[in-house]
Amino acid sequence: MAGRAARALSGRRGGALKIHRLGLRPKIISVTPQNILNADLHCHSVVSDGTLTPEALAERAQVNGVELWALTDHDEISGQQRAAAAAKARGMHYLTGTEISVTFAGETVHIVGLGFDADNAELRQGLYNTRNGRRERAQEMSDGLAKVGIRGAYEGALKFVGNPELISRTHFARFLVESGVCKETADVFRKYLTEGKPGFVPHRWATLQNAVGWITRAQGVAVIAHPARYKFTPNEEYALFTEFKNHGGQAVEVVTGSHSAQEYVQYAETAIEFGLAASRGSDFHSPDESHTDLGTLPFLPGTLKPVWELLADRIQ
Ligand code: AMP
Ligand code: MN
Ligand code: MN
Ligand code: MN
Repeated sequence: MAGRAARALSGRRGGALKIHRLGLRPKIISVTPQNILNADLHCHSVVSDGTLTPEALAERAQVNGVELWALTDHDEISGQQRAAAAAKARGMHYLTGTEISVTFAGETVHIVGLGFDADNAELRQGLYNTRNGRRERAQEMSDGLAKVGIRGAYEGALKFVGNPELISRTHFARFLVESGVCKETADVFRKYLTEGKPGFVPHRWATLQNAVGWITRAQGVAVIAHPARYKFTPNEEYALFTEFKNHGGQAVEVVTGSHSAQEYVQYAETAIEFGLAASRGSDFHSPDESHTDLGTLPFLPGTLKPVWELLADRIQ
C-alpha cells in the first residue's frame, strides 16, 4: 500500500486536480502540494442518517473528483467494508471512518475517527454502547411531539431509518417534512428538535476520554468535528481542545460543510495554537438536504498539516 498511499499524499493523480486549478472552488487561502488533495473525510450513508448507500456515495464522490474518501456514519461502522470495497472498485483511496457522539460540558460534541482498525473489539463495543439508548430517546421524543399535537412520530421516523439502532433526530425531521409540518429539515430542528423545543430529549453520549481512547487504541486518529457548530463559551472551547489533546486527540476539522470561510481561518489558527493536524470533509447527508456536496470544499490552508499525513500507513 505504501506506493498508493504515497501517490495519494503527493496529490499527483491528474484528473480531479485539473478541476481545482480551473478555479471552480473558492481559493481563499494559499495551499501547498501536500494539501492539494481532494480528500472528503466526513459523510453519512443509510447506515446512519444519510439517504444514499455506501456504494452510491462512492459513485458520487468519484464523479466529484474525490481522491481520498472516508464514510463516517454516526456511532456505527457496519458500512465500512462496503465503503472500502466501493472506493477500491472506483480507484479512490480510503480511510475507515466514524463520527462518535460525545457529551462534553453539557453539549453534544462530535468526534470523527479516521484510519482505525474496524475489527478492534473495544471500539466496536464502545460504539455499540453509544448507539444503545437511541430507541428509548426516540420514544421520548415522540411523546414530546405528541404533546404538541404531532402524533405517530416514532413510527413515522422509523420509515426513514436504514439501521434501527441508529434512529436519529434527522429521521424525525424527515418525517415532519413528509407530513407537511415543516417545509424543510432545518425548520424542524429549529422549531421542534433543539434544546427547549417539544421534541428535544437531553441524552448522555460517550465521554470525550472514551471516544478519543477507543479511536486511538484502534490505531486511528481522533478529530474534533465542525468545532464552530458548538455553542461553547471561549473557556469551554479552550477546555474542549485542551482535554481532547490530553486524551490523545490529534486533529480538528477546519474545512467542513458546516463552516463559513471566516471559520476556516479561525479554526486554522486554533489548529496551529493546539498543534493539531487539520481535516477536510463535507458532512454530506443527502442530495436533497445537504448544501455542500462531496468533494467540493476548498483545499486545506497550506499552513496546516493535513490529517492524512498522520495516516499514510492506514490509507487503503
Ligand atoms: P442525533 O444524533 O439524533 O442527535 O441527530 C444529530 C443529527 O441531526 C446531526 O448529525 C445532523 O445530521 C442533524 N442536525 C443537527 N442539527 C441540525 C440542524 N440544525 N439542521 C439540520 N440537521 C441537523
Ligand atoms: Mn447526521
Ligand atoms: Mn456532526
Ligand atoms: Mn456528520
